[in-house]
Amino acid sequence: MKIYSTLSGKKEEFAPQGDEVKIYVCGVTPYSDAHIGHAMSYVIFDVIRRYLRYKKYTVRYVQNVTDIDDKIIDRANKLGIAPSGLAEKYTQSYFDDMDALNIARAETDEYPKATDEIPKIIEVIQGLIDKGFAYPAGGSVYFRVRSASDYGKLSHRSLDDMMAGECAIGSQEKEDPMDFVLWKATKPGEPYWESPWGQGRPGWHIECSAMSLKYLGDTLDIHGGGQDLIFPHHENEIAQSESFTGKKPFVKYWLHNGLVQLGGDKMSKSLGNLITIKDALAKYSADALRIFILGSHYRSPLTYSEEGLEAAQNAGERLLRVVSRDDPAGGKGEAFDAEPYRQQFIEAMDDDFNTARALAVLFDLASAINQAGDAGVGIGQAQKVLLELAGILGLTLKPVDFVEPQESIVQLIEERERLRKAKKWQEADKIRAKLDEMGIILEDTPKGTVPKRKR
Ligand SMILES: [Zn+2]
Repeated sequence: MKIYSTLSGKKEEFAPQGDEVKIYVCGVTPYSDAHIGHAMSYVIFDVIRRYLRYKKYTVRYVQNVTDIDDKIIDRANKLGIAPSGLAEKYTQSYFDDMDALNIARAETDEYPKATDEIPKIIEVIQGLIDKGFAYPAGGSVYFRVRSASDYGKLSHRSLDDMMAGECAIGSQEKEDPMDFVLWKATKPGEPYWESPWGQGRPGWHIECSAMSLKYLGDTLDIHGGGQDLIFPHHENEIAQSESFTGKKPFVKYWLHNGLVQLGGDKMSKSLGNLITIKDALAKYSADALRIFILGSHYRSPLTYSEEGLEAAQNAGERLLRVVSRDDPAGGKGEAFDAEPYRQQFIEAMDDDFNTARALAVLFDLASAINQAGDAGVGIGQAQKVLLELAGILGLTLKPVDFVEPQESIVQLIEERERLRKAKKWQEADKIRAKLDEMGIILEDTPKGTVPKRKR
């Protein structure tokens, strides 16, 4: 299996350091609803996790929640509410969106919050000061960028280039304009924590170094995030973590996803062209959104378009029809062999998670199943393979109006079946009416009665 690392700028053979694949992905700053850009990033890292687990790797995944930040404080002040309340509300909203997108959360996954990790953050900052990589000034603490000799290795830029750019923000307290903040001295009216340098709160970059150290140890296998995080965020994470532990590399493989664009611009809050996940899911299924996202390579930019999503919605429905088809052979006789398609799917995914090619294999398999089914060849086993491979991409292939079979509903349906067999039509209709009141309609198909949610 080969994966592309931003650090080396090429595809490398994937060789995790141990039995467990340690993955860290930068999480959200919960101050408003998550948008399609977030959907893209978290769907991609969800598929990477699913695929590694399919390949029998044990995966330990950590993703932070930046629940204290300038953006949260600003928005909470405008709304006249506590920053913690705002962060809580949008953290919940974020997880609701992730559930709706079928982003799997395994038992070995952790989602630590910055405000719960202040002691570890302080420990790391103190360690950096003790080793001469950081210094307190005016109640804040700064990282001494020139003390990290290979600073710039991830973004492939030199310090002089960065100085010439807009990145260096001067401040009286800093020794050097390139130095970045690890601990921010409190300002009136802001939430703060006690520290050896006075009251304040952590900077954003140190949070990720502290949490990855605490939950995953000194060296990560994969660190992910959007390409907009390469500089300065991930560059700073490397400087902090490698300076603190004295071990290189902090991360074996750096994976960065492309960004979502809308009409040629980056989708961003400041441009006011955001489409939230909730907006998109009101119109399209989660499967459609995934097919749309995974139809491009994860490192390429993705242009959001209604046409593209409609095509993805149709494509998802096509796969659904194929897996729902009756098997003409009824599980007996000659069967269609889907294993060559599984091999092609694995080859595509082994090549730096080429989901676009993997999806194309799924659609080829779907066409082949249809042809085999039309010719009277057994397709039951191939349908299972299609469903399994679709599951690696996180596709559920369930009708949008699918009803999870709750026991009470299943019992009612079975009772109605019994009554119908006994030709007690009136009583059977009463059960149908009762389910109708619960918002469930029943569709009688050759395979039995299927409950569906009323639209
Ligand atoms: Zn981060």
